[in-house]
Amino acid sequence: MTQMTYNRLYLEGDWRRTASSGTIPVYSASTEERIGTVPEAGTADADAAVQAAREAFDDPTGWSTWDPARRAEVLERFAAALEARGAETARRVSLQNGMPITLAEQFEQWFPAVVVRYYSHLMVDLAQEETRPGMLGGSSRVIRQPVGVVAAIVPWNVPQAITFLKLAPALASGCTVVLKPAPETVLDAMLMCEAAAEAGFPAGVLNVVPGGRELGAHLVSHPRVDKVSFTGSTAAGRAIAETCGRLLRPVTLELGGKSAAIVLDDADLHATIESFYAATLLNNGQICWLCTRVLAPRSRYTEVVDTITALASSLSVGDPLDPGTQMGPLVSARQRDRVEGYIAKGLSEGARITTGGGRPKGLDRGWFLEPTVFADVDASHTIAQEEIFGPVLSVIPYSSEEEAVAIANDSEYGLGGTVWTADSDRGEALARRISSGTIGINAYANEPTAP
Ligand code: NAD
Repeated sequence: MTQMTYNRLYLEGDWRRTASSGTIPVYSASTEERIGTVPEAGTADADAAVQAAREAFDDPTGWSTWDPARRAEVLERFAAALEARGAETARRVSLQNGMPITLAEQFEQWFPAVVVRYYSHLMVDLAQEETRPGMLGGSSRVIRQPVGVVAAIVPWNVPQAITFLKLAPALASGCTVVLKPAPETVLDAMLMCEAAAEAGFPAGVLNVVPGGRELGAHLVSHPRVDKVSFTGSTAAGRAIAETCGRLLRPVTLELGGKSAAIVLDDADLHATIESFYAATLLNNGQICWLCTRVLAPRSRYTEVVDTITALASSLSVGDPLDPGTQMGPLVSARQRDRVEGYIAKGLSEGARITTGGGRPKGLDRGWFLEPTVFADVDASHTIAQEEIFGPVLSVIPYSSEEEAVAIANDSEYGLGGTVWTADSDRGEALARRISSGTIGINAYANEPTAP
């Protein structure tokens, strides 16, 4: 395969050589071959990026002071440039993290441009100022202003969609941004930089610094950053929150998950099996909101286990670039080791594997793992408590709805969730009792406009 090699980074509105001499090698998750190289930003490069973003933000006639409609013109060019590169973006993501190409086409190919247009139109339509009558007789003028220089740090699992859920609102509202992509998926970020260069952002409005966690930590604590927006693991989120707490720096954290799929005794899982797959095993199990704990009524436990086992064992595992593939490899050897460690832990704690548990036959290269289902899982087991971030489901029995609610809420997470039932009113009543950010009935979609 032709190597994708970059020698410069998109900083200060141009392609620049880095101060550091480090490089980031990028690998194919399905062949383990090196497919590209990108310069690694060092702290001096990050400092230069923050300085550029600071100057662009503080410019008295610059981006942050423009009318939203003027920013929308640049953002429209950005959206068009992203669309022109959409198919290649999807291909690169799929190569790097193993995302099945049909999913990459949805999440990574077309979604970024949709989000850019959504937020730029929202800002054009939103009143920038309003006068509110006061309770003491006067009035207040409320002015919406961009917060400043944003440090945006993203993970590798859905890299462009997550990047744009940060970039689009920040840029549309007049902020300037220093983005740190994850080293595993940096080739799609470089393509995004090409689109940004073509769109013609003023210098310093958007800067991209590829690097690892040390670089991320450097940005989080940088004195000239006004706001941090992070998506990634709970452990990293805690460390970032501590730093931001000390600095009294605004921070948005989107972290891990261990969501529950509650199957009620009247559910017809066969009729909703595609939605069930999407809610539990999408993207090779590498999505934060997936319902990886399946709660099944004791009266139908065997039947639910059999249905899920049949689903998992029927998935076509293979080359993520093949449109027929439903499950690709995991992102890295490290990630597969981690997931295999959880599978061993599940067995040692007494759970029973009904399908999977090993590496698929005939796929000797690539970080593949069989879709795996555990039955006889107790809610206290490690595999029922900790985020695995791979294609591993745990089916936990419950005796009453009360118990199902208690098990679903017995988690340090609270991101998503689903209820599966023939009676949507019953499903909604139960859903309201689950402590989670969002929840779906007989399906799950992470709707970006929901809070
Ligand atoms: P990670 O936390 O290891 O890394 C995420 C990003 O943060 C990377 O760019 C990494 O270099 C950087 N980073 C790591 N430690 C840091 C630190 N101390 N300071 C600053 N930056 C740091 O996570 P990951 O393994 O790349 O991603 C998987 C995790 O992300 C899972 O836990 C998943 O649930 C979570 N996730 C959450 C959402 C959501 O919206 N809630 C979405 C996707 C992924």
